[in-house]
Amino acid sequence: MKKEKIELIKDGKRLDGRGFEELREIKIEIDVLKRADGSCYFELGNNKALAAVYGPREIHPRHLQNEKTAVVVYNYNMAPFSATDRKRPGPDRRSVEISKASRCALDPVILKEYYPKTTINVYVELLQSDAGTRTAAINAASIALAAAGIPMRDLVSSIAVGKIDGEVVLDLNAVEDNHGEADMPVAMIARTNTITMLQMDGRFTKDEFEVGMKLAEKACHEIYELQRAALIAKYSESVNANVNVNVNTGRGEE
Ligand code: ADP
Repeated sequence: MKKEKIELIKDGKRLDGRGFEELREIKIEIDVLKRADGSCYFELGNNKALAAVYGPREIHPRHLQNEKTAVVVYNYNMAPFSATDRKRPGPDRRSVEISKASRCALDPVILKEYYPKTTINVYVELLQSDAGTRTAAINAASIALAAAGIPMRDLVSSIAVGKIDGEVVLDLNAVEDNHGEADMPVAMIARTNTITMLQMDGRFTKDEFEVGMKLAEKACHEIYELQRAALIAKYSESVNANVNVNVNTGRGEE
């Protein structure tokens, strides 16, 4: 439920100084967890998401197996210390709903048919939250899946658009989310503009929806480039490291 109305736009700027079409700062780090097959730490402003991917691996209990494809399981969780009010530990209706929507957002890009009878587990922990956590989590999970070597058609990128003080704006923070009029998280395959998740809390007019979708599309393209750049940087780093190892080994054998 939305709380009392406060002024969210002053002199054409939002309370955190951003313009209407401005993303919060993004930071990406890949393979931060040793035990996971792939992992990613993703910051979106004050949101801090940590994604870990395990699999493909054997599925237990076996009756959950799918003869034809891998089964993707997505777990979204907000740490008890991630919000200003302590969040009650453990799953709740919200996290179950977000986990399901996020799995559906990633499902179309995962080549699940390559690994029948297995499971791919995606865990995302929110260490700090400031609205837009599901979008930060999907961005992190998408990179972690790629880092785990899971065959994918493409990456999925995600961001929310919303309405505050009657203006359509990109990437709401918690104050804007709490006191604004609408919030619409979107996930898409940026290269083809294919929407894989679209949710809406509040109301947009048809025109506002169209403006919002254009903003989300543009931002997803920006996020996609950052995700891609982070993976390429990480991959080239490993290739260079391997080249060094090979060169050294070769010399040693001569
Ligand atoms: P999203 O984080 O994807 O925008 P919501 O719109 O449901 O999802 O939540 C907005 C913000 O409200 C969260 O980022 C978090 O900061 C806060 N929040 C949500 N659920 C809780 C909770 N159970 N306890 C404390 N804070 C919460």
